[in-house]
Amino acid sequence: ELERYREPQEGSRIVFRDGKMEVPDDPVIPYVEGDGIGVDITPVMKRVLDRAVHKAYGGKRRLVWWEIYAGQKAMDLFGTAIPKDSFTALRYFRVGIKGPLTTPVGGGFRSLNVAFRQELDLFACVRPVRWFDGVPAPLKRPQDVDMVVFRENTEDLYAGIEWEMGTEEAGKVIRFLRDMGKEVREDSGIGIKPISKTGTERLVRMAIRYALDNKRKSVTLVHKGNIMKFTEGAFMKWGYELAKREFGDLTVTEQEVMELHQGVVPEGKVVIKDRIADAMFQQILLRPSEYHVLAMPNLNGDYMSDALAASVGGLGLAPGANMNDQVAFFEATHGTAPKYAGQDKVNPGSLILSGVLMLEHLGWREAAELVVRGMEGAIRDGIVTYDLARQREGAKEVSCSAFGEAVCERM
Ligand code: NAD
Repeated sequence: ELERYREPQEGSRIVFRDGKMEVPDDPVIPYVEGDGIGVDITPVMKRVLDRAVHKAYGGKRRLVWWEIYAGQKAMDLFGTAIPKDSFTALRYFRVGIKGPLTTPVGGGFRSLNVAFRQELDLFACVRPVRWFDGVPAPLKRPQDVDMVVFRENTEDLYAGIEWEMGTEEAGKVIRFLRDMGKEVREDSGIGIKPISKTGTERLVRMAIRYALDNKRKSVTLVHKGNIMKFTEGAFMKWGYELAKREFGDLTVTEQEVMELHQGVVPEGKVVIKDRIADAMFQQILLRPSEYHVLAMPNLNGDYMSDALAASVGGLGLAPGANMNDQVAFFEATHGTAPKYAGQDKVNPGSLILSGVLMLEHLGWREAAELVVRGMEGAIRDGIVTYDLARQREGAKEVSCSAFGEAVCERM
């Protein structure tokens, strides 16, 4: 079904049987190198992951890398910012990873990341946040932060339903609202905030499954339902209902823990709780150790992911993925840093940690742990790229590729 790419010559496909993902020992992993510093960080990420997989499993398992294209490189090679084949490849092989992308001007997209998200319906943006010893952080106890954010990716005020002040459409909506008995000033821009039961349930289901699979103690529904009752409030309500209906024997609500279990969480159960978004921004600073998995609508999730990343020392080491139940696309969360492109200088940490998330997703936990151990070791030893070196006395500044080597040596 490919139009322009040559099929991978080796490796196998991840399949689903009875809803369960089955990963072969030689999965084909489509990857987008990425623009700008993509040429620097992507090869380092591949090398680090290969070394960890080899160390963990000998020759028994390996990742079969297969390059697909998007961004400027795709534009240069194929005259389009995302060849259809890239979507086909991800749909077919189900797990991929990408470096940062430049959105070419006039490509007809808001951004290429949005294009991937929409075309593949990647409804969850997953962002784990933890601290690495040796990274300067504004929190007093950054070691207490170990959370995974599941942000809804397709709805809310980000659905793109909005009209500019003064346009005929905005006027129409304002008149319609007046007919509905709601007064809105004539000189208003209008944005619409849809939050559906379907969209909420699939996100919360994924977050709870993650908590169960990874032995995380709680899932917190973060919302602003005290004000926006039928969107954010409904998100909370549907979330609790889903937890009860589909995971009733595996979860317990915070209220039940208090009222039925004398404040002690029953063995092996995941606690479902909720917090109002503004209170949650205080909680991540004041009591981060009480939170593990967070599920939230799009807008809250956008702010919360970045605030959390900053609290442990910034976005430079933050990994991420956009996913649905079939396809997971892992990514560096930073941009293309064009002024450093090709200099073997920048920090590959964000993409390497996204690779860790990918290994965990494949169920290759031993390899994932080796990479984390290597990263922890390198950063603790002060062998870091310029961005971290300049914040830390006594650190040794090394290149992007040398950092990768330092990680490998410490696995
Ligand atoms: P950026 O993330 O590229 O850069 C912000 C700052 O962080 C710069 O000072 C940069 O040098 C630094 N930086 C980024 N990555 C780094 C790394 N790995 N190591 C060390 N320092 C790093 O953001 P920007 O400058 O706003 O955007 C540049 C381009 O990237 C734009 O074309 C934008 O569209 C694109 N972009 C892409 C993505 C993505 O693909 N996920 C995300 C954001 C921006």
